[in-house]
Amino acid sequence: MHRERVSENVYWFQSEVYAQVTAGVVLGPQWAVVIDTLALPDETLAMRDYVEHELGVQVHYIINTHYHADHTWGNCFFPGATIIAHSLCRELLKERGIPALENARKQNQTFRQVKIVLPQFTFRAGTFNLRVGKKNLSIMTAPGHSPDGIAVLVEEDRVLFAGDSFMPLPYVVDGNTEDITTSIKKIGRMGLENIIQGHGDIILRGEIESAVRENLNYLTNIRKLARMAVRRRAPHDFLDENHVEASGKSRVYLGGLAEELHRRNLRSLYLEEKEARLAAKEKEKNNLPNS
Ligand SMILES: [Zn+2]
Repeated sequence: MHRERVSENVYWFQSEVYAQVTAGVVLGPQWAVVIDTLALPDETLAMRDYVEHELGVQVHYIINTHYHADHTWGNCFFPGATIIAHSLCRELLKERGIPALENARKQNQTFRQVKIVLPQFTFRAGTFNLRVGKKNLSIMTAPGHSPDGIAVLVEEDRVLFAGDSFMPLPYVVDGNTEDITTSIKKIGRMGLENIIQGHGDIILRGEIESAVRENLNYLTNIRKLARMAVRRRAPHDFLDENHVEASGKSRVYLGGLAEELHRRNLRSLYLEEKEARLAAKEKEKNNLPNS
């Protein structure tokens, strides 16, 4: 696991095992806030160990940026902590997280020690503030990667923990391209020092503008490809021919997962596009005047 001090009392952790997933810690003199847990129990436990023994504080709060397993399945390793999330995160963890964990347990021993712990503090809109020592955490909605996405701004440092609304490759299979476009544009206007992406490396101030532009271009590109695919006779072949590089992204991103995630993005947008077209045709047919 990589670890870095981002600013005073703000730390970043990155998995070396699963998709470069990240987590954060902000601490005050008495206690700490963890922003997301890591994908595998061992890494979450190593992070906890560092906070408790090296930094010398207990974790009182966990903020889950969204309900996906790689960000929430470590909640159970902080038994005294209160969990903060979007209210949809709580609902989705209950509906999808619990059965997903049941499945994972059957396939992988490691997950036998995991339990889903649902957020106790939830909000649906606007912002939520949490004061940790000298820092104010402003917690806000940032949907698009999933409907329950939230981001955490360390106001004093202009450091944003963006969750998966900002990634080296935007991933929208469980989300929505319009929402994520809005979230990315908003992040681009925030005047940030650093973006802590839900996966991948920390983005520095001088790199933010191009990262925002690259992600917005990528989203425009894949939407265009999905629209083109529905007009093709062999839509799947067409999608398969359009590799991630052609949409302006490198295949080495996310520990080599970029091409696979890109493929899933394309298939999911293509299906959406196809359904939208069918619905439109259906509507047209029903609106035809009787003659
Ligand atoms: Zn993730």
